[in-house]
Amino acid sequence: MEVPVARKRARIGEVAARRRSASAVLRTRDFYIFYGLLSLFGICTLFFYMGELVDFAGWTSLRWEFFYNVHDIQRLFFLVPIVYAGYFYRDKGAIIVTIVALIVFLPRALFISPYPDPMLRVVLFIIVAGVMGYLVGIIRNESEQRRYLAALANSEKEEILSILENMEDGVCIIGPDYKIRFVNSSMVKEFGEGAGSRCYQYLHKFDEPCGEICVLLNVTDRATHRWEYTFPDGKTYEVISSPFIDSDRTFCQIATFRNITQRKQVELELIELNQLKSDLLSNVSHELKSPLTSIKGIISSLLQKDIELDNETREMLLSGVSEETDRLASLVTNLLNMSKLEAGVWNPDKERCYISDIVNNVLQPQKWVHKNHVLETALEPDLPEIYADYNQMRQVLINLLENAAAYSDEGTKIILRAKRAGNKIEVSVSDQGVGIPQEELERIFEKFYRGSQKRQKPGGTGLGLAICQAIVLSHGGQIWVESEVGHGSTFHFTLPLAQ
Ligand code: ADP
Repeated sequence: MEVPVARKRARIGEVAARRRSASAVLRTRDFYIFYGLLSLFGICTLFFYMGELVDFAGWTSLRWEFFYNVHDIQRLFFLVPIVYAGYFYRDKGAIIVTIVALIVFLPRALFISPYPDPMLRVVLFIIVAGVMGYLVGIIRNESEQRRYLAALANSEKEEILSILENMEDGVCIIGPDYKIRFVNSSMVKEFGEGAGSRCYQYLHKFDEPCGEICVLLNVTDRATHRWEYTFPDGKTYEVISSPFIDSDRTFCQIATFRNITQRKQVELELIELNQLKSDLLSNVSHELKSPLTSIKGIISSLLQKDIELDNETREMLLSGVSEETDRLASLVTNLLNMSKLEAGVWNPDKERCYISDIVNNVLQPQKWVHKNHVLETALEPDLPEIYADYNQMRQVLINLLENAAAYSDEGTKIILRAKRAGNKIEVSVSDQGVGIPQEELERIFEKFYRGSQKRQKPGGTGLGLAICQAIVLSHGGQIWVESEVGHGSTFHFTLPLAQ
């Protein structure tokens, strides 16, 4: 017995739920609109046939002339449901209600009324009313479509703006009145906040349009343009400008700014490096050729059997060969060392050592350096140990001494000093040579850079000081120069003491 009761209850529940959902549907906005149309049409029809209804029901007190013969006014009320249908159900709704209204008019026009309507007036009214309803429908359709399109354009614009906002390049949209309508966050990072200001104020800090300087707004030929612009602060941007129609249908320009300062610098450096490399090649071949030519010349003289050479001349010629060979060796060593440093395979092999040992070791075989110069050493006594790569330190001293000799006249002094400076040792090489012009001081430690001052002897590549700097820095020291043109130069470098 329990089961059927439960089933019955469930079915009642189901029916109630279905009713509830049906009534929910009937209470939707669409149904209210439909009820509205039905009610309006019903009222109009009732009013239209009121005279016949009064007669049929025998409501004598209501037998007013008005219900019988002012058909045009009674018909006029049908305009309301027709326009209403046009508004809510558009052109098709208006046509359907107009046809239904015609059907409603026909019995009275043709049969019922003692005052039948002239058909022409009925047809005229129906046409006018139908056209009005139809127009309302079309206008509504149109305005709805416009609103939809505007909303679509807006949402598309927002979508585009959000894409632009997240772009890595700076983006700004500029109106025809130079007003900035949009800047993305990358643009803000580069140029600061700018929306609302004029582009010439924003980009160039000018009070009036830039004219020739900027092509941004001159680009009105609706094509995309690309150019590079360097601002006075040195930053270079690649600018791409394209036409852009804003949501208010204004013809604007959208411009992207890509900061290419670094790329430009690298390009310039590459060009410079290429130039330096080709300079180096021609330099190196020249520098290699001249000692080889003199060695070849000396050896040819020594080999001449018909000329008798005394011992002194023979010794002089042989020491010439030795000097030239030293120079060649030093040149090749510098080239090799630089390539090893570049490749990162010449790391300092540090050990505890004394700077005085290194100095002595360097000065002994460097006879040609001090042959024509007065070489003095001034080493502080009992200098503590340093922790350095013995060979690399030799190379630094050799390069500085060679330069001192090469850039100063014969017979002038070269002084090599070493002293303790706090927890470091400071070594310096001074000469009384040509000196270095102020504007070259910063560049002489660059690779392949050769100054304007001429060497007294051949053998330079522009690598000597670059090698010195790389070695000293890899030891945790510093290298610098003090110089006065015409009076000489002093190169200093420091090295940390052994712990
Ligand atoms: P280079 O092979 O040309 O000597 P370096 O790297 O040794 O190359 O030196 C770079 C430049 O520094 C030189 O071309 C020269 O102009 C300048 N220079 C180096 N040492 C001296 C010095 N003692 N006196 C004057 N100028 C120097």
